[in-house]
Amino acid sequence: MSQKSAELKAQGVDVINMSVGEPDFDTPQHIKEAAKQAIDDNYTRYSPVPGYPQLRKAIVEKLKNENGLDYDMAQIIVSNGAKQSVCNTIMALVSSGDEVIIPAPYWVSYPQMALMADGKPVFVEAKIEQDFKMTPEQLESAITPRTKLLILCTPSNPTGSVYSADELEGLAAVLRRHEQVYVICDEIYEHINYTGAHASLASCEGMKERTIIVNGVSKAYAMTGWRIGYIAAPLEIAKATSKLQGQYTSGPCSVSQMAALAAYTAPQDCVEEMRQAFERRKNLIVSLAKEIPGFEVNDPEGAFYLFPKCSSYFGKTDGERVIRNSTDFAMYLLEAGHVATVGGDAFGSPECFRMSYATSDDNIREALRRIKEACERLK
Ligand code: PMP
Repeated sequence: MSQKSAELKAQGVDVINMSVGEPDFDTPQHIKEAAKQAIDDNYTRYSPVPGYPQLRKAIVEKLKNENGLDYDMAQIIVSNGAKQSVCNTIMALVSSGDEVIIPAPYWVSYPQMALMADGKPVFVEAKIEQDFKMTPEQLESAITPRTKLLILCTPSNPTGSVYSADELEGLAAVLRRHEQVYVICDEIYEHINYTGAHASLASCEGMKERTIIVNGVSKAYAMTGWRIGYIAAPLEIAKATSKLQGQYTSGPCSVSQMAALAAYTAPQDCVEEMRQAFERRKNLIVSLAKEIPGFEVNDPEGAFYLFPKCSSYFGKTDGERVIRNSTDFAMYLLEAGHVATVGGDAFGSPECFRMSYATSDDNIREALRRIKEACERLK
């Protein structure tokens, strides 16, 4: 998809890119200034493997003030992005043959990381009718004596679904019956939430002791390129991930850590401004997508993705090609409509496709107009 998209762009075609997973905003100015200052202050040497103490302390404060969770600094490990935080944790926890429960649709990297650790991904299919959220019953029936880890993502990439506190409590009730299961709770989209309240599994009774919260600055502060993420975890897991990180990357970038410190300690107005923009765009894209015949659309409560079901177009043709699956469908939208999206196969949900609405209102309107037109040509 991205190769085709690049080819079309090189030919001068105006492609609207809805395939990327990052905010379209620039990093706020005060964060950039802090990074410039950090260079002048010579934050240019190796940092401690788990991150600078002042940043880890700021993260402890954030977790206390925003999430009501108490952690010691030793339980916070800062990494090169939330992606490394997830990978560190899987590598530290999962051994050969361990089962890793991954609700589908899932973020593309989870199964691959489980496989890298020689673990066995176990998928639980959460359909659009259940707002793409796994039920406690589904979780219960997926757990076996070999289950080591569950990976939960809320708000979710690719669906935008958000687990409420009650829904998390339902899952926690199941997990309390299976003490060997750890949980990665990927909360990287925490601040892009339209429900007014973010809930963490770690807040449920008995869960903090075996939940690894993953979060970072990439999405909330438009800092994807700075590469700063973290875990808040039980001490023994924090120590293990730090050991791993010490061998393969060392501590994360010194300048980026000082930028992240500014992000966490300055007033949070920029986060709310961006959240409001995402919510406005979400309302726009949902209303436009609902007008496209054959689409089934959920109403996402967070992140910046829409994940419509498009399988009613499978088997149809524009006279040139037949749409067999969601990858074909996404390729068709690119070639015939010049809109780049991602087929749901990549996320373990082949009936759907993902659009990122981290782009301007004008782009969203034009993209959905093109998609509608392209769909009308399929018979
Ligand atoms: N988790 C999810 C669900 C994501 O969508 C992403 C980014 N696409 C990440 C983790 C990784 O974030 P980071 O940029 O901090 O590595």
